[in-house]
Amino acid sequence: MISPVHTWVAERTGLRDDLNEQTLKHWQAEKLKTLLLYVKNTSRFYSKRVHEDCPLEDLPFTFPSDIVEDPYAFLAIPQNHVARVTTLANSGTTRQRKRIFFSKADLERTIAFFAAGMSTMVSNGESAQILVSNRTENSLGSLLQESLFRIGVKAEIPGVLRSAEFAIEKARSADCLVGMPSELLYMCRTAPELRPKSVLLAADYIPQSVIDGIKETWKCEVFSHYGHTEFGYGCAVDCSQHKGYHLRYADLVFEIINTETGKPAEDGERGELVITTLSNEAMPLIRYRTGHISGFIREPCACGSLLPRLGTVEGHFENNILTVSGSSLSIHQLDELIFALPYVHGFDASLRFEHERPILSLSIDATERLHHDTLASMLPPGTRLEVKYGKADPFSQRGKRRIQFPGP
Ligand SMILES: [Zn+2]
Repeated sequence: MISPVHTWVAERTGLRDDLNEQTLKHWQAEKLKTLLLYVKNTSRFYSKRVHEDCPLEDLPFTFPSDIVEDPYAFLAIPQNHVARVTTLANSGTTRQRKRIFFSKADLERTIAFFAAGMSTMVSNGESAQILVSNRTENSLGSLLQESLFRIGVKAEIPGVLRSAEFAIEKARSADCLVGMPSELLYMCRTAPELRPKSVLLAADYIPQSVIDGIKETWKCEVFSHYGHTEFGYGCAVDCSQHKGYHLRYADLVFEIINTETGKPAEDGERGELVITTLSNEAMPLIRYRTGHISGFIREPCACGSLLPRLGTVEGHFENNILTVSGSSLSIHQLDELIFALPYVHGFDASLRFEHERPILSLSIDATERLHHDTLASMLPPGTRLEVKYGKADPFSQRGKRRIQFPGP
């Protein structure tokens, strides 16, 4: 079956059987002109920065720090038309927060995209457990729930998940589970007898070791979703071929740029993912630097779609990395290595310094001990490794997965 996301893009763009990279490019360029006229008249941030005849690649970038500085400068609708405001901690060292605004129509488009994406993995009459976010109105979880209702799926958001045991009980009878990679892996290694039909992992970085681990143990299909609050949560999801993410082209333009030059990356080259919104009413964003690294897959998908897909995405590194004299280690590398061991349920990593010497401390929840030599060989020179064993239930301390640094 061709990716339902492709079909949804074909419907939304009106390109139907004629949807390929060229026709899509043309359609998006026309939409961009309308967007530029819209922001010139409505957005304080963009009104003087953009010109409606300017091609996309000549427009200036927007950085997350621009939103942090003055989120209201991006607001393009009257404040009383805002249906939801999401406040996000800014990645980096500042304590400032980003505010993201949505109109009712913006949320509606996300629900429609989710409904298309989810229909790849769950169908009418089946059930799903949404193990991300909370029940708050218009949160990621509730938009997902609404989208599942629309395709006839009984979807539950169990509410505050304080332990893996609670999540496992909720998951027992579900056909589809939606959650964060480290949390679902923990559930899977703790309750290998569960048999969901499909699992959807949502995060800005999904270790391959987690995908493989869940697939093998639960004998189910594992899908990946890439999203971003700034773009209404949903951006891309893979199809049953699992060879890259199908993109939300009816609402978003995706570019990969060379981070050094800011120019479009060469064909096949990986670079920073830059996204422009085409339909957002409340907070249009032009050439937004996501800070995530990825690359396009241009070969047609075996599902039948000819549109470029997105390859593996690497999330933000700033807070997740230990660098010593040019050699570095990230939480992603640790996840890839440690989660691949079938006897590991979970682990936390933290970093501290003693007399300027870095000490990486791992707290590992596993049924066997690890070979510490393999771990130690990954570490940047001069770093000491400390390993303790014990419970490391990811549900007890939720939030972005990272190497923890001690507070000031
Ligand atoms: Zn496909």
